[in-house]
Amino acid sequence: MSKQEKEYFHALHILEDNCTGCTSCVRVCPTEAIRVRDRKAKIDSLRCVDCGNCIEACAFHAIIPRSDTLDVIHNFKYKVAIISTSYFGQFTEDVSYEVAKQALYELGFDDVQEEAMVTQFQVEMIRDYIRANRDKRPILSSNCPTVVRLIQLKYPSLLSNLFQLEAPMSILTRYLRESIKQEKGLEENEIGIFLIVPCVAHVTAVHQPEGAYKHLQDGAFSIGMIYGKVREYIKHLKNNPPKIETFPKGLMWALSGVQADLVDCEDIRALSVNGVDNVMEILSRVEDHYLDQYDFIVLRSCTNGCVGGCLNVENPFVAMSRIKKMIKEGKDKKIDVHDLIELYHAGEFDVAPLSSRPVLELDKDIKKAIVKMKKLNEILTNLPGLNCCACGSPSCYALAEDIVQGKATIEDCIVLLRRHSREEEESKQEEIKSAQDKV
Ligand code: SF4
Ligand code: SF4
Repeated sequence: MSKQEKEYFHALHILEDNCTGCTSCVRVCPTEAIRVRDRKAKIDSLRCVDCGNCIEACAFHAIIPRSDTLDVIHNFKYKVAIISTSYFGQFTEDVSYEVAKQALYELGFDDVQEEAMVTQFQVEMIRDYIRANRDKRPILSSNCPTVVRLIQLKYPSLLSNLFQLEAPMSILTRYLRESIKQEKGLEENEIGIFLIVPCVAHVTAVHQPEGAYKHLQDGAFSIGMIYGKVREYIKHLKNNPPKIETFPKGLMWALSGVQADLVDCEDIRALSVNGVDNVMEILSRVEDHYLDQYDFIVLRSCTNGCVGGCLNVENPFVAMSRIKKMIKEGKDKKIDVHDLIELYHAGEFDVAPLSSRPVLELDKDIKKAIVKMKKLNEILTNLPGLNCCACGSPSCYALAEDIVQGKATIEDCIVLLRRHSREEEESKQEEIKSAQDKV
């Protein structure tokens, strides 16, 4: 494993014994990060953007998500959970907003806060940023870690378009850390702040935050992982619903398309896009300046946004409908954002400029890259062009690239192998026939 590979954390791994080499994962990976060799799948850590497509595609449960184990919270004196808005769409309709939130206290947290608390503040911050950076339009949202990594990997020319301030859960983390230190008189290392997240990309982002200047969260738990325990607590809480602060209006953040609608106003035109294939198409168009009419583009890798995250348990459409119901029925509490504004002006939510991940180039040396490209094209003309994935690479082009990079051989192409053996068989038969004719 190269030094660079070791630097990239991913919140998923392969259980080799379960893998049958079926190549379903190879076909759905948007960055061509998976190869099957010797009937076993392998993920290229440099290319993976943690979209989670492969987890959903594997019928043999050979690719599984990684998240922290719940007992890590006991390493801290004061434990805080920050909940992604999509969490509230995961329960049946008889489970109220308050009960779903209280269940997390029962899990062992001293404090439970919601991403929804700061989403309206985030909208104002985005508008401010867009108005101050008209030369960089369209500004691309940086909330979805998969989209950020996709841009680093495949669209580096768009890095300057990325929104360069923290996302809501990180804003809340910074704010809480400061206020808990002051209110409770605790040291930084006594406070553990954890995220409850809907996707592998957010787990990765906690362990490897891009552009963060300071220590952020101490771990992340997937909604799917804590769901069983939470359901147990909910059963007991339902008969005795707690009185607890909630922020229904902020839950809009979980709904696909709403973020763009919230930012959209008289002088700002916003567009919302979700689903990794749609995101890639839109990013290509932004690169070609086809979408210069937009000031802001909200990009989410999961279908329907964060409610479509692969670590959720509920169907995203049903989850969306439940969240809409909570927004309609809930009473909003006015949030004092005075402290947040102060932190914002002090530069606490700034993000360092991100760098690209130049792993898709054939060689760093331009001369060598040209030679390799020539060789690649020669190999490509000999391959059948079926893009069948039977070789274990995602396309004939990818196999040619793998051969040039010394990661595969032409014999990996099963179609070519069969064709050659058929041709050999035919020529053998012809030889036998002509020998018989002579006799
Ligand atoms: S989908 Fe990928 S990981 Fe799962 S069994 Fe098939 S080749 Fe193996
Ligand atoms: S998580 Fe996404 S990018 Fe990473 S290997 Fe799986 S499909 Fe490819």
